Amino acid sequence: MKLYLNARFYSMREEGECFKAILVDDNGVIQETFKTAPKLPNVERIDLDHCFVYPGFIDTHTHSFEGGLYSLSVDLENADTLQNLFDLLAEAKPVSGKVFAFHFDENNIKEKRFPTKQELDKIFPDIPLILRRVDGHSCVINSKAAEMIDLKSLPDFNGLLTGRDNGKVSNWFHRNLTNETILNAYQQAAKIALKTGHTAIHTMIGDAYSNLKHYKLIKENMHHFPIEFILYPQITDVDIALDIGSPRIGGCILADGSFGSFTAALLNPYSDKPDSSGILYRSDEFWLNFITRAHQKNLQVAVHCIGDAAITQILNCYEKVQQNDPKDLKHIIVHNELTSDEMLNRVSKANISTAMQPMFDRLWAGTNGLYVKRLGPERTSRTNRLASIYNRNILLTGGSDWYITEIDALKGIDAATRMHNETERLTPYQAIEIYTKNAAILSCDENRFGTIEKGKLANLTCLKEDILESHSIKDIQIDSVIVDGKYYFS
Ligand SMILES: [Zn+2]
Ligand SMILES: [Zn+2]
Repeated sequence: MKLYLNARFYSMREEGECFKAILVDDNGVIQETFKTAPKLPNVERIDLDHCFVYPGFIDTHTHSFEGGLYSLSVDLENADTLQNLFDLLAEAKPVSGKVFAFHFDENNIKEKRFPTKQELDKIFPDIPLILRRVDGHSCVINSKAAEMIDLKSLPDFNGLLTGRDNGKVSNWFHRNLTNETILNAYQQAAKIALKTGHTAIHTMIGDAYSNLKHYKLIKENMHHFPIEFILYPQITDVDIALDIGSPRIGGCILADGSFGSFTAALLNPYSDKPDSSGILYRSDEFWLNFITRAHQKNLQVAVHCIGDAAITQILNCYEKVQQNDPKDLKHIIVHNELTSDEMLNRVSKANISTAMQPMFDRLWAGTNGLYVKRLGPERTSRTNRLASIYNRNILLTGGSDWYITEIDALKGIDAATRMHNETERLTPYQAIEIYTKNAAILSCDENRFGTIEKGKLANLTCLKEDILESHSIKDIQIDSVIVDGKYYFS
């Protein structure tokens, strides 16, 4: 038994409730909570040095594999000359026998160009190298990679590839990673998540080029990771999801695209492209069949919806299945960026949940931001409506969409309390809820974690400063993280 004391433990069960000490058994389960620290014989006393302790943070939307893999690869974001880039590459450690570099932007490079195949061959004559542009839509490869991917016969090939050839490279790279590299990427992701105060993260499996092999690998190795992964098989084949024993299906499976590329589906045209309203990727019929079947089989469904037309399309389906056969499966609208009051009332009535990213507001909702350009001011005021959703008793949860934004719950909590549209701001307490209690409810784990109380796992995030009193939540330092009663120093 361990007695954690000398800290303020916020239960997050109800506002204002806190403890001075908690007793945790050898299985990592909280046995007792105390309003004043007790004198107990035969227990290990762990002094938390005046920390402010919250339930472990949970990020409800990540692409952890990419996040982890990128952290093992070469980040070219700060490369500003070609020489600088060559130096960074020369230090690279290959993953599964390949060198992968990303975030390349020729506009940031003094010479304003991509490196050539010949230049890359000089650094890596025998190891395949892939250098990916920041948007992922093009890449440069060396001769060895061209040989292995069978692209050698391309006419005028100088190393630079776009379109279908770029896709072929990504495909080859992901399909030729060893199990060791894949696990290593997830292990790396888990470490980064832990460092930023998370004790569980919802992670999308089967992004673009990976496949359900990852699902089985993570399941088999779950006990090796310091945190818990909550898995989303990103498929639309209900039988496969049932086969692998998943309680849910989907994730960032796309109802539409993104505002940046004018592919988010809108009910009215884009402000800066009046002939376009974006794209609904699949038919109403496709979604209704898929969602009906998943619902029948008691699978929780999650779908990526950005624009109001995409949200409406999926909402129609969720509504229909709920009307015919109401269940508490907590089907999820992921992102849920552009909504009206009427839509939110329907979301509430149909008992639908949301996985949202408060940092999107910080990134794109500013005066000269992407939202205003694409949507105009009125629609911008209806983006990322955290308070409107919270106040309608819709299950609201917070996430990062890592690698799109950094995995950092404190940044998310900070953003949620300082939304551009003041009426959509959450209080700090509510913002913590969406990364703890609510996030646990989303995956039906509320009996295991999400609050600090007797019978739950001791998943705790210990901070040097109190979120509820802080003037700059995003800068609060994490002292330590405890997962299943296991203590990690940050
Ligand atoms: Zn995503
Ligand atoms: Zn998405």
